[in-house]
Amino acid sequence: MIKHLPSAVALGGLLVLAMPTNASAHSTTSSHSCAAGQTTVQILGSAGPRFDAERASSSYLLWVGGKARMLVDMGGGAYLRFGQSNAKLSDLAMVGISHLHPDHVSDLPAFLWLSHAMRKETLPIFGPSAGKGVPSARGIDYAPDFKTFLSRLFDPNTGAFMVMGGTLGAKKRNGVRLDVGVIDVLKSEPSAVFEGKGLKVTAIGIPHANMPTLAYRVETSDGSVVFSSDQTGTNPTFAKFAKNANVLIMHMQTPVGAKNPLHAEPAVVGRVAQEAQVGRLIVSHIGTKGAKLKAAVEDIKKVYKGPVTVGADLQCTPVMR
Ligand SMILES: [Zn+2]
Ligand SMILES: [Zn+2]
Repeated sequence: MIKHLPSAVALGGLLVLAMPTNASAHSTTSSHSCAAGQTTVQILGSAGPRFDAERASSSYLLWVGGKARMLVDMGGGAYLRFGQSNAKLSDLAMVGISHLHPDHVSDLPAFLWLSHAMRKETLPIFGPSAGKGVPSARGIDYAPDFKTFLSRLFDPNTGAFMVMGGTLGAKKRNGVRLDVGVIDVLKSEPSAVFEGKGLKVTAIGIPHANMPTLAYRVETSDGSVVFSSDQTGTNPTFAKFAKNANVLIMHMQTPVGAKNPLHAEPAVVGRVAQEAQVGRLIVSHIGTKGAKLKAAVEDIKKVYKGPVTVGADLQCTPVMR
């Protein structure tokens, strides 16, 4: 069952998998503790866009009642991690896409290529509206709306992957049929996204320079989790959206003191988590290593007084009140 990894050691009831030597800095709990029944967040990809020997680009699974019910993003490398997680495509209630930077969506075609062979039921999938009105976009679209994005990929006549027209309902083409939802990133109040199979999902637009981007909040019977995605942390509405979540995942791309127009620096990540009064902060989309990573986490802990988890690929964190 864990043939793909070199060795496994039982420690205090948890199965700890020893990763290949070039990934020895990380040990991760196996998918089996994710699927134990308790609502659990599993990180499929804990990096952003830079090459990393240990981390895939951004992607997350939410396990509810022992099944992987929600997938958030599918960055490069997440396709492999999905396989390693032992999640089933047929169990997913929905997919939420935060934005259309490649480190969040580039494995989507690979993920859907043979999806019709693994799932018969339509797959609900959601993503952002186009973002002309996003303040830093200054009237220019830097990404199409999510429906147009999928058409450009999978349209049976004009798409880059026209062979996957089944995703958009074409006959004799590959891909499970998608039920596509576009969420308005400019709406100031949260949008209702999905309800069913143990999930109640809402979304809200977050500031990520000129790129229209969504954060997702999920309520389950065990507790709530917020997937922040990439953001500058400059819109106070987000802390309200994430208020009292049991788990908040924030992205930590930059080292201490680095000014980046796309990403919050660590102190801002900590401030947002503290303002939102969340039960646990997971930092992911990690763009630093070694001493810089340690300093970034220390900066967060100066501001955020709750527990902090440094994300790693395939890591599982229970969601509880
Ligand atoms: Zn990113
Ligand atoms: Zn981004």
